[in-house]
Amino acid sequence: MLFPSSLVGEEPAPAKAGVPEGRKRSTSEASALALGPGIRRDDDIGGSRMSTTKASYPPSWYAASATPLPAQPPLQGSIDADICILGAGYTGLSAALELAEAGYQVVVLEAERIGWGASGRNGGQAIAGFSCGEAKLEALVGFDDARKLFDLSREGLQWLRERIRKHAIDCHWRDGHASVPIKPRQQRESLAAVEDFNTRYDYPVEWWDRERLREQLASDRYLGAMYDPQSGHLHPLEYALGLARAAMQAGVRIFEHSRVTQLVRGARPTLKTAQGEAHCDFAILAGNALLHGIVPELESRIMPVGTYIAATTPLGEARAAALIRNDMAVADTNWALDYFRRSRDHRLLFGGRASYSTLPPPDLRGAMTQRMRRVFPQLADVEIEYVWGGMIDISLNRAPHFGRLTPNVYFAQGFSGHGVIATGLAGKLMAEAIRGQSERLDLFAKIQHRPFPGGRVLRTPLLVAAMAWYKLRDALW
Ligand SMILES: Cc1cc2nc3c(=O)[nH]c(=O)nc-3n(C[C@H](O)[C@H](O)[C@H](O)COP(=O)(O)OP(=O)(O)OC[C@H]3O[C@@H](n4cnc5c(N)ncnc54)[C@H](O)[C@@H]3O)c2cc1C
Repeated sequence: MLFPSSLVGEEPAPAKAGVPEGRKRSTSEASALALGPGIRRDDDIGGSRMSTTKASYPPSWYAASATPLPAQPPLQGSIDADICILGAGYTGLSAALELAEAGYQVVVLEAERIGWGASGRNGGQAIAGFSCGEAKLEALVGFDDARKLFDLSREGLQWLRERIRKHAIDCHWRDGHASVPIKPRQQRESLAAVEDFNTRYDYPVEWWDRERLREQLASDRYLGAMYDPQSGHLHPLEYALGLARAAMQAGVRIFEHSRVTQLVRGARPTLKTAQGEAHCDFAILAGNALLHGIVPELESRIMPVGTYIAATTPLGEARAAALIRNDMAVADTNWALDYFRRSRDHRLLFGGRASYSTLPPPDLRGAMTQRMRRVFPQLADVEIEYVWGGMIDISLNRAPHFGRLTPNVYFAQGFSGHGVIATGLAGKLMAEAIRGQSERLDLFAKIQHRPFPGGRVLRTPLLVAAMAWYKLRDALW
């Protein structure tokens, strides 16, 4: 694997293993689903400072610090459009923007608020490539197509940067990403990856030895870094809201609190909500891990996994800068990885852990504090102010799953925790295909995606067992 990739920590929550089909959810499960994992009803950190407009987002440093958009109305009655999109995350908004700029009438139906899902909660690390890594893609589709797919992800990175520039999205973009090995085995893999990127992928990355890394990163935990100057990081919710502003300026109509409860397939697909329905020539499904029963054949190919982020109290500019001097994003190469970066108001944002139920792991705050201090023991006196989580959509091979359900219904899922760049690419390629040029989207159809073994009931324990092996391997060598 060239990139350590999916920003997915791994730590099975011991209490529950998935929600078997047909079992009624308990009140606490329902709360966790509604608020997002990691957010407890009794955990009001961040919540008390939020304005009414922000309050409908799960409490997080992002929700507390973003410039809110006015609430958009729910869909009521019957409407027509050229394109209807389910989901106002990066995937749906990117497709909407591309299509509206090409002159199409576009409607977006969002169950909650714009950017409410993973797009408004993620680690903000925008890294070229895909979650499964290049070696896996080569095994799946051969080098030539794997190289084309990687080049597309580079295009996705350029698209992201151009959109930020063109629409003046104030999302605090910062250049630079370091992928940092902890064990000698990981160091060998990182060195091989640096060689591979520079020679076979024509993608310039640098190897930094331990001393060089130490000049930028105040932690003794790592053996060096693969430094990628083109990748970077941003404020995820500001980016989602910025895309939405640009899309609405281009004519896109977005309806919030408009959960799609049914997709009616046919010559003119229809997306139905509780109070309305949208008819269109083409539909795009961009619901990520949160579709909840609309398209079983897609949902069986992803596994929703909760993953978590913590934000410290403000450290002050000098103390924050001393941690990561060049302000890059950092992710280790463990399977159960830690990833972190500085915020624009001089906090440390620290991600890690995952749970395979919809409930947050026990004592999430304590666990995140411990992980953070293992990397930065000098933060022993620093408290975590916000902790939140979100759902990622892992595919079995962790490769992206984009394509067509029927000739006029497109979908993109399976970002597997590595979607800040790939979602924009998916939106662009689906828009391209709707406009009649599908070769580039069709490249993704070459990747075979199998359903998770065990169906909805057994997929969680099976995945936990597989993850435990990778975690053990990281612990041992
Ligand atoms: C905690 C966390 C950290 C992460 N860190 C990183 C990172 O650092 N770097 C990286 O590259 N990736 C990261 N990811 C992954 C990345 O955030 C996602 O891949 C990406 O945001 C997915 O975007 P999306 O638009 O496909 O889905 P989402 O942003 O989840 O949007 C889907 C939207 O669809 C809506 N929806 C779902 N069902 C319906 C329905 N029936 N009707 C109407 N609307 C519906 C949801 O409400 C939601 O708003 C992280 C994810 C999480 C959760």
